[in-house]
Amino acid sequence: MIRLECPRCRTLFEDARLFTGCPRCHEQKVPVNLTVKVDLGPLAHLRTERFPATPRGLWRFRALLPVAGEHPVTLGEGATPLIHLERVGGRLGLRRLYAKDESQNPTWSYKDRLCSVAVTHAVETGARVVTIASTGNHGASTAAYAARAGLPCVIFTLASVPATMKTLMQAYGAAVVACPTAEARWDLMRQGVERFGWYPTGGFQVPPIGSNPYGIEGYKTLACEVAEDLGWRAPDVVVVPSAYSDGLFGVYKGMAELAALGLIDRVPKMVAAEPYGPLAAALERELETPAPVRGEGSVAFSIASRYGTYQGLRALRESGGHGVQVTDEGIFEAQRALAREEGVFVEPSSAAALTAVMQLVARKAVDPEQTIVLVLTSSGLKDPGASRTWLPEVPASGDDFDALLAVLRESYGLELDR
Ligand SMILES: [Zn+2]
Repeated sequence: MIRLECPRCRTLFEDARLFTGCPRCHEQKVPVNLTVKVDLGPLAHLRTERFPATPRGLWRFRALLPVAGEHPVTLGEGATPLIHLERVGGRLGLRRLYAKDESQNPTWSYKDRLCSVAVTHAVETGARVVTIASTGNHGASTAAYAARAGLPCVIFTLASVPATMKTLMQAYGAAVVACPTAEARWDLMRQGVERFGWYPTGGFQVPPIGSNPYGIEGYKTLACEVAEDLGWRAPDVVVVPSAYSDGLFGVYKGMAELAALGLIDRVPKMVAAEPYGPLAAALERELETPAPVRGEGSVAFSIASRYGTYQGLRALRESGGHGVQVTDEGIFEAQRALAREEGVFVEPSSAAALTAVMQLVARKAVDPEQTIVLVLTSSGLKDPGASRTWLPEVPASGDDFDALLAVLRESYGLELDR
């Protein structure tokens, strides 16, 4: 029997479909997401060699996941590379700066870890329809895994999301509708869940609490892969782009469970990269739960939230980490550096992880000897329009080679005629 636990009041729940957070804390006006209670006792003798080499990817770590998983809904998610950022790291004075490139997942984002586990849970619990309110990555991933499971999928989005995102979600066969406001999407989705038992892969509460607790467990496999690639050692710092902090909390929980099992020696400091900074503000003001902050729009639209969540704040507080507020200018600088100096093209919200590190370096808040891992959550091709703002128009070459050399010099600063 898999139970859900409130991380605040520690109440345990046996209702597998409790997707609206802790009812007790809700009564006290503290919105808190539930989390899967993992009984580590039977896993006490788990050794790293017990994680099988095949199948490659997330389902190797099935022992830590809250589903039977005999027939997982999978597209080969996980097993993404941990890339040593020698050039960017060297420039920042960080010898051990790494990127976990999650854009190499099946729908080009780390949401596939969440959706593979959540949709597997949906199938195992007899769901007939899957639903999500999303501005992009989470929706695209939900649509793909619903298609894989052969289940219909209803997605509530906003008219303002990039065309690429709408195309992806619809291409996978989801019924996508544009809602007038963010709050309206959650209300419509809640009615589908409550009236017809639609299975939600994401949250629909106001204020937000975070996503489906079973899906969040999928992010623990990211912690496993990072630790394994570092020789079963924990990094010192993990930076995750965060809005409602599903990824931040899931990676933290994975690290904490690995440490509790003795498979790594400590839990890394977690850092949230956030455009508006609700978690940073809550830490600074010593709040028990984040309060909404002001936000004026961000190129990192997929993480631009005025709300933080209890789960995110908890991951930062328990690991001794930070929230770092990032600007559009800093995000573009990081996006350009990752693409041009390392060959890794990620979307603006992913680049925010590097922006946060650049800011921590400027504040001398990181030790240059530390091992730092950036979670790069999604591909730059998800929002190509954002990158066009810092790219020149493609110039015409003409048909004369000397004219071409002049074009290369003028447009790209390349002196190739020597
Ligand atoms: Zn509670």
